[in-house]
Amino acid sequence: MTVSGNVFRYPEAIKDRFLETEDIQFRDGSKASPADVWHYLTEIGPKKYPNVYDYSNYFGRKISGDVTLPFSLKHNYLIMTMNERMTKAKQNGVPVVFVQGGQSVDPYYAAGAIALRPASVGIWASGQHEGLNLNQEEVRRANQKEKAYRAISFEVCQSAGYENIQEGTVPVDMIAPFSCLRCSDVSYGLEAHRHGKRKDVKLFLADYPLDHQKDKEWAITYFAENIRRLIESIDELTGNKTTAEDLRREIKLHNEGRKLAMEIADLWWSAEVPPTNGKDRRDLFQMGGMELHGDPEASLSLLREAKGYIAERVKNGQKGFGVSDDPARIFVCGSCVFPNEYRIEEVGGIVVGNDNHWSDITTIVEEDGDPFYNLAKAILSYPYEQSIKERAQWTVEQIKRSRADGVLFLYNWGCNTQSAVARALVDEIKRESGLPTLIIEHEQRGTQTEQMQNRVNAFVEMLK
Ligand code: SF4
Repeated sequence: MTVSGNVFRYPEAIKDRFLETEDIQFRDGSKASPADVWHYLTEIGPKKYPNVYDYSNYFGRKISGDVTLPFSLKHNYLIMTMNERMTKAKQNGVPVVFVQGGQSVDPYYAAGAIALRPASVGIWASGQHEGLNLNQEEVRRANQKEKAYRAISFEVCQSAGYENIQEGTVPVDMIAPFSCLRCSDVSYGLEAHRHGKRKDVKLFLADYPLDHQKDKEWAITYFAENIRRLIESIDELTGNKTTAEDLRREIKLHNEGRKLAMEIADLWWSAEVPPTNGKDRRDLFQMGGMELHGDPEASLSLLREAKGYIAERVKNGQKGFGVSDDPARIFVCGSCVFPNEYRIEEVGGIVVGNDNHWSDITTIVEEDGDPFYNLAKAILSYPYEQSIKERAQWTVEQIKRSRADGVLFLYNWGCNTQSAVARALVDEIKRESGLPTLIIEHEQRGTQTEQMQNRVNAFVEMLK
């Protein structure tokens, strides 16, 4: 990698090898060749989004320095082209639906929509502002968040991109989360859109029956009916009629992503030394949910290609860029908060896993039979949504597979469920795994980010 001052550049030395890699396939049938990606990353991106190339440690980095992993470069390309791709999709009449609550996005895509989670809405909004340096971009984001604090409530976590939707910054067509255990923000967000500039946005809540429902036949059938209502509601936007076969096809596609992510995780966790740094690992594992880029086919292209590269590195005992020789391995629990992986690596640690979203990625949906019923059954069985005891048991299994040395539970101020369960869950994890644990509350607005990182790094030093 090349860094001049605080500015990152992709080195010419990797170009020829990168140009031999695979195209990115998109849902609309178009492709991006490695030459397209290289041109964007080295010519267009630095001018459009200089803040992305800022390599200042203080704010954290957006680009991994591991330049010989093609999926990492292509992931950056997909992030930086989010605004262009979403704008094109909207011009082609594809509705964009905001989703929140940790559910799989299969039904949204089956109905011909693009499903965007809070992070993706934020990336889209950010992509609309070109030429900003890091400081300008941070101020812009902080201003947007202030609007949300006033328009929704100071009691909300503010992880979501509601401020962008409500202001009309991003033309989201519909807000359609699931009510579920993990996320207390859903109801605030729905209500907030009954006022504001975008009170015309279509609202839908898929009712998720709570409390040990995964083995109750009535609950599965009831939730399957909610998935059907959700799809019918999106059909009202597209004017199409989504069939059970459409949903089955989408489930199969997403199952491929989920299985690939699990296979890659097994490879990664089996390695003597971590084969990527923490940021690339997180991006890679979470691609199995196939929703971050707003295009499941594109995410799948990257996953298919990535598996071979990870297998090769594991076989050769190659370490990820920036990772120390015997890092303290940390498993992170909790929703929507991530420590700065690079700064953890600077002090000799590495994040080896997260429970957030890994719960839905590791739940394979049955492909034979009624797809509505199968999807409902799978979603109701997500380990993250079960009782504290069951969630802890599943989390301990993941912690053991990842060979973690310590466990962090992070939650946002305003994340009512995660803050309520953190102590009990971590006590159970500690009892079952015998590992050191730490719980930290974080405030989304960013004022506590440095404080949180200091405590995380102290935890790493303690583990070492
Ligand atoms: S931090 Fe908690 S309440 Fe906020 S979006 Fe995430 S899960 Fe929902």
